Amino acid sequence: MIKAVTGTKDILPSDIPKWKHLESVVQTIFKNFNYSEIRTPIFEETVLFARGIGEETDIVGKEMYTFLDKGQTSITLKPEMTASVVRAFIEHSLASKQPLYKLYYISPMFRQERPQAGRLRQFHQFGVEAIGSESPILDAEIIQIAYDILRRLGLKDLLVKINSLGIPESRENYKKELRHFLNDKKNKLSEDSQKRFDTNILRVFDSKIETDQELLKGAPILLDYLDEESKIYFNIVRNILREADIPFEIDTKLVRGLDYYAKTTFEIISGKVGSQNALCGGGRYDLLAEQLEGKPTPGVGFAAGIERILLACENEKTLSLPEEKLDFYIVTVGENLIEKVYNAASILRRRNFSVEFDYLDRSAKAQMREANKLNARFVIFFGGDEYSNGYFSLKNMQTGEQKQFPLEDLKTIVIE
Ligand code: AMP
Repeated sequence: MIKAVTGTKDILPSDIPKWKHLESVVQTIFKNFNYSEIRTPIFEETVLFARGIGEETDIVGKEMYTFLDKGQTSITLKPEMTASVVRAFIEHSLASKQPLYKLYYISPMFRQERPQAGRLRQFHQFGVEAIGSESPILDAEIIQIAYDILRRLGLKDLLVKINSLGIPESRENYKKELRHFLNDKKNKLSEDSQKRFDTNILRVFDSKIETDQELLKGAPILLDYLDEESKIYFNIVRNILREADIPFEIDTKLVRGLDYYAKTTFEIISGKVGSQNALCGGGRYDLLAEQLEGKPTPGVGFAAGIERILLACENEKTLSLPEEKLDFYIVTVGENLIEKVYNAASILRRRNFSVEFDYLDRSAKAQMREANKLNARFVIFFGGDEYSNGYFSLKNMQTGEQKQFPLEDLKTIVIE
């Protein structure tokens, strides 16, 4: 049997109501904050991600779906959106149209990671990118957007963690100190962390290995090395979050994997989804546009994983959605009236009612069962002498009340 590729998942009709609900909450909140949607292609030239995300990151180094197309161009299925959005921003000279763009997206992403609960190879993210302003208000705003969405989905077991990476100069000073601190412990670090020591030392903090974390105890603290400007900036972000009633913790080890972050970083963690517990993450990336050969343009954004959020909703039992209802089910009794039934359904469907009838030659009893299963609000009965005399019956499934109407009333009938 041919199965879906490892790490990919079908989203079946029974799952769709949850997805639609999440998407509608997400879209409502984006609209409230005046973010506009952007859609970019599923694949890009590999060099975009190599340059934008950084060669030394796990995403670029290990996880990308990369292939040569027939024209020998190296193509990559997008592993995240920020680089694509900034590419589009530069390519279409959006900066010349308005100074600040507040953009959002909902899109599949692709990373060849080891699949486990909450970790897939094709997964879906929603997120925002606010490009064109250095204001700390936007850092706080995007954290609030992420938090408000998760709260509106009913999630309670949430932890917002924030940190500041400062500007590159202060970060370099810090990296030197950290290197100094870890230098004589290097051999005891895990193999991965030893590599990170050489390529991207901040990422040693991301290690999930206990001995690595032990060795990091007493390490110098990034926030102590912040430049004055970044300190003031971080203070403003925190003050606005307090004003907006967003509980948060400072996590001085929250460096996040990507090269393009500067100043604010944040993550929101769920206590209900196991080891892959980050529901969303993001931060400020003022240097990315330049790395992609655009004019220097500040930006800040986050990405949130839809599958993981739905898992958290399931585990916190937050999604009890109203059942989908059908307006009319047409039950045919007796003789073969399928064309008439089809026609009646068409009239109602063109009037924007949802209508279903039997395609499988089932008995009237089985059709009624189906009407119940589909949560039909009304059942129309077609058939027998009643139909021959130009009438149909209409049953209100909630009250059980049944009435007769002339057939031409299908064109005008109104239901509450
Ligand atoms: P990142 O771009 O790695 O910061 O990821 C942002 C969010 O996307 C994470 O917090 C997760 O919720 C989600 N995510 C990242 N990678 C995966 C994956 N492989 N499978 C499912 N969700 C993911």
